[in-house]
Amino acid sequence: MIIENPITPLTEIFDPLFEQKQIKFFIKREDLTDEFISGNKFYKLKYNLIEAEKLGFKTLLTFGGAYSNHIHATAAAGKKYGFKTIGVIRGEEHLPLNPTLSSAQDNGMTIEYIDRKSYRNKYDERLKQTLKEKFGDYYLIPEGGSNHLAIKGCAEIISGITTDFNFVCSACGTGGTLAGLILGLDSRHFALGFSVLKGGSFLYQNIRTLLSYYQKENLNNFQINLDYHFGGYAKTNAELNNFCAGFYEQHNIQIEPIYTGKMFFGLYDLIRSNFSA
Ligand SMILES: *Cc1c(COP(=O)(O)O)cnc(C)c1O
Repeated sequence: MIIENPITPLTEIFDPLFEQKQIKFFIKREDLTDEFISGNKFYKLKYNLIEAEKLGFKTLLTFGGAYSNHIHATAAAGKKYGFKTIGVIRGEEHLPLNPTLSSAQDNGMTIEYIDRKSYRNKYDERLKQTLKEKFGDYYLIPEGGSNHLAIKGCAEIISGITTDFNFVCSACGTGGTLAGLILGLDSRHFALGFSVLKGGSFLYQNIRTLLSYYQKENLNNFQINLDYHFGGYAKTNAELNNFCAGFYEQHNIQIEPIYTGKMFFGLYDLIRSNFSA
């Protein structure tokens, strides 16, 4: 299977703040990749799909919360590249399905709910066995899609950037995307992550574990900001919502309060306070 990388624009953003601080600011428009398999989700899946096919699997199984973009993207990728998909969702079924899950189902995904306690132990052999009995053999993609093949894919986001830069930034859920960016960087570059979860210090360990597959666990050219979570995953407030709306008004680029909004909010804040690494 050959999966071509999408070509997406690098858009310069103009703001009096950047002029004042003498910063050039660009957005790599990975959001324009595909209607359903957007941005980093595509790069995380790319080498997993190739591996699954190489090993002869017909089914992909993965885990996520009811609002997980990764679930949504896996369903769409399964449909596009010819795999059956199973999404194991944390918690109980709520009907009608929310837009994430109903789109996943429309793309042919089988949805299986498990209680929160089992979900915490989702990689246990016992659950693996139960799922195998129910669905047959499958290629496992971990929660959020972050494994060593995912970060190999995300490193290619960097190869797609043709302008020189000092910093690259990403929102962090599992940290897989940031780990991939770090893998793709030269040592003269620096990666800045923004945790969208409360208590995101676990991200450092996640990222080092992912990088260790490539013997890169000692890289130090990155930092994760833990103060822009706005109360936790998918939590927001009027200030953040206004920031996202204002950004759209000014630049005609849609950002959202779950990931990109928190990152840009944090980044503007760091720039205002003359952050340096
Ligand atoms: C899913 C997602 C993330 C989180 O990626 P992780 O690899 O889990 O850290 C960040 N930004 C956007 C826009 C996303 O869709």
